[in-house]
Formats: sequence, structure tokens, C-alpha cells
Amino acid sequence: MSPPANADPSCPNNDPKYGYCVGGKILEEYTQAGGFPFFGNATIGETSDARGGRFQAFKTSDPNPNVGANSIYWNPNISGGHANQVGGTIRDKWAEKGWETGPLGYPTTRELATRPPGRFNRFENGNIYWSQSTGAHPVWGLILNKYATRDWENGTLGFPTSDEFTTPGNGRGQHYTGGSIYWTATTGAHPVQGDIRQQWANSGWENGAYGYPVSDEGPGGNYSDANGGSYVGRCQVFQNGPITWNTGTLYDQVFSSVVTTSDGKKSLLLQNQSKYASAYSSALTKWNSKGKVVLRPSANSTEAVYQRPVTDVNRSDYSWFGNYSKTTGIRMNTHYLDSVSTAEVENTMIHEIGHALGLKHSCEGNIMFSTSKDQLTFGFVDNDSYKKLWG
Ligand SMILES: [Zn+2]
Repeated sequence: MSPPANADPSCPNNDPKYGYCVGGKILEEYTQAGGFPFFGNATIGETSDARGGRFQAFKTSDPNPNVGANSIYWNPNISGGHANQVGGTIRDKWAEKGWETGPLGYPTTRELATRPPGRFNRFENGNIYWSQSTGAHPVWGLILNKYATRDWENGTLGFPTSDEFTTPGNGRGQHYTGGSIYWTATTGAHPVQGDIRQQWANSGWENGAYGYPVSDEGPGGNYSDANGGSYVGRCQVFQNGPITWNTGTLYDQVFSSVVTTSDGKKSLLLQNQSKYASAYSSALTKWNSKGKVVLRPSANSTEAVYQRPVTDVNRSDYSWFGNYSKTTGIRMNTHYLDSVSTAEVENTMIHEIGHALGLKHSCEGNIMFSTSKDQLTFGFVDNDSYKKLWG
């Protein structure tokens, strides 16, 4: 046996102090990470790895069978030349993925404690997490980036319960104790959790009617001030439509003022009496551009019965900027609207006309979100609900 390249001066003649000579940076990590009580004797001499580094394996003296055997890996270009311990079922998983030449690369930390009880190592291209109930699983790539935004294992996703798996369309998925993350190149990486995940699962996951998630979960439904100011529901948008929890229906034909006029067309008959005439005009153009319902004033006395007025009120005792009902039509509240941007006035007009078309409060990122502010372009759910109602 030739003397180790990473030899420690304390082992000048390859003296088998720990079964085999342990020296240099590997000895430094051996000492820092627990020494003989943790590692026990080396089972091989220092050995060259497949990427220009060195490693050594150890037979642990730890009685916990989950600790298993340990290795220490050193490469001058990794961790500033510090060697790192990797052991137990984390090491087994790393081995399964191809050691330092696999997708994870080298360990860049020794095994560390997670915040909920468990262990993890960081690697060049990902982490491996272990807990007693979930076993060891790597998390990497854009799924790891999304997992990071959810506070890793300490967030609502918790520990991974599966490795990453391949899904149709060259996508990827991974399950966690608190949900799943799905990724494709066109839809991005999005967690799916809770009741929305259950609905999605019931529909057949990514192979079902909804396809992949295209947004994270967000607020939806009505905004309630009664319980401290929050949205009552949750929404998540998938390729073929939203899945919601507790928002109620997102559209309702009965709730609309759309009628079939004598020309056979679906029509929303409106008569503007509001001073916000340019907002009204823009809103009408936007909704008419969708092409299925014609928005116009009534043309004769027969139609006039179905016409809804657009009027202004000045009421500090109302909480709303705008309001729609079948009986009162659309009302714009000048008490608030006179002190906001023209975009917010126009948004309010588009939103209230949306209600008159049968659209109910929907999801963040849409004009029909109950507090959508100054958004002027239709969101996914605005378009989706209109299409489902009117074609
Ligand atoms: Zn509304």
C-alpha cells in the first residue's frame, strides 16, 4: 500500500491507528464529527474517488442501527477543501444515486440535525433528508428551490416521503408528508397541498382533467372583515382550470343579468348613468372583445325591461367601491372611487360588469378577485369562468 496523498504527519508510516491510517483533512473531519466513538475504525485505507478526491469508509461504533456505516469524502475543490462525513441511510441513498458522480455530487456538509427531528446532508446539487418515519430521500433542482421557499422540512410540506419521480411530458413530482411538488418545463414547480391536492388526486393527478398546476395555491372567494380580514377560500390554477376550496362556485348563470334578445344573441343590456364614463366605455370594450355576450343599451321597450342601470352613489356607510345586483344594477361608490387611481375605477367597473355577466368572486391574480385593485387585464380564472358560462 502506498502512503496516502492526504496523509497526516501523525501517521507518518501509515500507522494503522484507526485500523488503517486516517490523516489530513479526512482526519480533521473524523475528529470534528465525533472521533472514534462515532466512526470507529476505518474499514479501508484512504482511496481515490472518481472525481479527483479521496475518501475513507468507517465501521461505526454507534449502537443505533440507523447510523450505519460512515464515509468521509474530501476533494480540494469542495467545501473549501474541508472533508465531509456522510453516513447511515443517507449514505445508502446517496450510493443508490451514484455517489459523487451522480446527480447530487459531493457532500458539502456533514450530517446535520433538521428542525423537526431528523437528519440531512447538503450536497453540491441538492440535499438528502432523513427522518425515522419517512426514510432518506433526495430533493434537488427546481423542486428544491420551491421547497426552500416553503421553509424546507420545517414548513407545511414537511419531509420528503418519496424520491423525485418522472411524470408524463418529462415532468417531475415528489411527495412530502404535507403535500407534493410537481414540475414541468412549461408549468414550473408548484406545491399541491391539503384539500386541493385531494381533489386533484381524485381527478387523476396530472393525468386527469386538470393537468399540472400552473400556480401555487393562493387566496380566493370573498374577503371577510369579520374574522380579522382574510379570504374565506383558497384557489390553485391548473392547466385546464382552477381547483378551489371554500370559495363557493366561481360563476353562476342565474346570478347574471344576461338575456337572450330577439336577435337570438346572449346580451347584457346596460345603460350608463355613471360619471365614470371612460371607465364604463373601456370595460364594455374589454368584455365585448370576448365575443359571446353582447353588451349594449336596450334598443326598444321590450328589451328595456331587462336593462340594468350603471349609477353612482356616495355612501361612506358602505364598505364597497362597487356593487351589482339584479334589482339595483351596477352602483359605483364615489365616496371611495373619487380618491383612487383611474385604473382602480376602471377595474371596479370591469369587476362589477363581470358580476352582471354571472362571474362570482374568484382567485388572486384575476379581475374577479374580491379585492383586485387596479388589474385591467383578465386573469386565467376570469377567462376560464367566462368560457365555462358562455362558450
Ligand atoms: Zn365583487
